[in-house]
Amino acid sequence: MFSDLGECLISAEQIQDKVRQMGAVISRDYQGKDLVVVGILKGSVLFLADLIRYITVPLSIDFVAVSSYGASTTSSGVVRILKDLEESIEGKHVLIVEDIIDTGLTLKYLLENLWARNPADVKVCVLLDKPERRKVDVKIHYQGFSIPDKFVVGYGLDYNEHYRNLPGVWTLKPEIYSK
Ligand code: 5GP
Repeated sequence: MFSDLGECLISAEQIQDKVRQMGAVISRDYQGKDLVVVGILKGSVLFLADLIRYITVPLSIDFVAVSSYGASTTSSGVVRILKDLEESIEGKHVLIVEDIIDTGLTLKYLLENLWARNPADVKVCVLLDKPERRKVDVKIHYQGFSIPDKFVVGYGLDYNEHYRNLPGVWTLKPEIYSK
């Protein structure tokens, strides 16, 4: 399976350094606020689990699942909620945590959907950003790494449900996903 990997784009150490820094900034920004960290399943699970350990203010966590690309690597542009939040976010300060922003369609949809529930605030935290691929404008409040337009796996990101457990971020050999 690992023979399908290309290069290591971001090492586990680089990720942990960055996530620690992001956690420190978020801790400062959310002092005294009622924070709900919302992870987008499944890709954000590793990032969220590490990030909240670096956040020092009280928080709760919740998850949404949205329709994703499935086995394909190109965006359909159609977003659907597969699993909704369990708690109300009315009056809360929501921080959406996402593994990667690509076209921006998923986050744009989710932002509109969550804002309609009368939260005090909704902000976006993404580990990876592929700016070249953006189709819609989405404001990112906390961003880890900007990466080139390559399909990546690891640290929560999958290809056909594999590779999520890699501690770093890797490219996949193009011949694998263009099959
Ligand atoms: P967007 O709606 O911004 O186009 O896409 C966001 C979602 O696309 C991410 O949550 C992720 O599931 C998927 N995605 C985008 N780029 C990649 C990539 O390079 N690798 C993987 N594994 N998923 C990606």
